[in-house]
Amino acid sequence: QKSDIKMSKKGVNVFVRFRPDNATEQKLGVQCVDYHPDQKKVSVSCDGISHGFNFRRIFPPESSQEQIFLSCALPLVESILEGYNCAILAYGQTGAGKTYSLLGPGYDHPERVGKCDQELRGVAPRLLQSIFHQIYSTVSGEAVYKVYTSYIQIYNEKIFDLLNPAKEKLKVYQDTDKGLWITDATKVPSKNVKEVNQILELGTKYRVTAATNSNAESSRSHALLILTITKHLINTGTYRASQVYMVDLCGSERISKTGVVEERLKEAQNINKSLLSLGNVINALAEKRKHIPYRDSKMTRLLQNSFGGNSLTSLLLCCSSNSTNALETISTLRFGDRANMV
Ligand code: ADP
Ligand code: MG
Repeated sequence: QKSDIKMSKKGVNVFVRFRPDNATEQKLGVQCVDYHPDQKKVSVSCDGISHGFNFRRIFPPESSQEQIFLSCALPLVESILEGYNCAILAYGQTGAGKTYSLLGPGYDHPERVGKCDQELRGVAPRLLQSIFHQIYSTVSGEAVYKVYTSYIQIYNEKIFDLLNPAKEKLKVYQDTDKGLWITDATKVPSKNVKEVNQILELGTKYRVTAATNSNAESSRSHALLILTITKHLINTGTYRASQVYMVDLCGSERISKTGVVEERLKEAQNINKSLLSLGNVINALAEKRKHIPYRDSKMTRLLQNSFGGNSLTSLLLCCSSNSTNALETISTLRFGDRANMV
């Protein structure tokens, strides 16, 4: 497998995927996106005004899961095994295709999790496969890798362990040895891709079942699959630890549009706390400010590693390409625009 994208270690690599129209959109709207043949420019028209944007690559609705993986994630694999921290974040309004792109179709239904066609698997399962493939093709005697998997959810600024639901809410702290921000989440030693996939499916099933039971949609929470990879270089005897974050962010739609009622207000503010803080961190980085407000939310603390110098980050903006969602699409692309400047 080959990718034609070279990832930048500086800043954020921003990609956009437009999903095909759903039935409602087909009935009520029209296409509002113009794709430039260079795959880097798009314009979205709204109320007679055309808004233009530039990104690393733009994927039109007919793009395949494999294409997304090859551009946004495969170029990270080498760096991951060299010891860089990496992150892939899916951002966009609810229903825009974050979970589909990151995990695959059916990952929002307890009984369909992990059951999709191989061809339709999302970025995360493909990335896991590539990482283990690389690990297994490393000449033995050169380096020994160990992989540990955690899977957590941030909801109302509380962190929950998707691999151990009985556990009290988790803490975030800094591992002073390695300089990494971590949680006390369950860390499962994972020998191969099959084991990690089982964990991913188990945690996702728990996520969607718990969400249904408590009437708290998963669109209001962030899910983070975290790999910690240690590398022991036999020759020099040195150890390295790095982290890979695969993040399904909560829906980016604005509070006003979702019509939040009184008792939901706190929840909405908190959800947006992590998402708003992410936006603030990105703004501060884009403006090269001295103080970057990483400490403002759980999400930005955890992702501090990913926005630092020793890391590579892909941001996948997920969008509808239909006029009925043009405002949300433009707001998503503007978020990406600022991330472009980091
Ligand atoms: P989100 O996680 O952003 O809320 P989903 O990933 O759940 O959105 O997608 C919403 C719906 O659209 C799902 O039924 C999903 O299967 C479908 N969908 C999303 N992206 C695509 C795509 N690229 N091709 C086909 N169907 C898609
Ligand atoms: Mg989702």
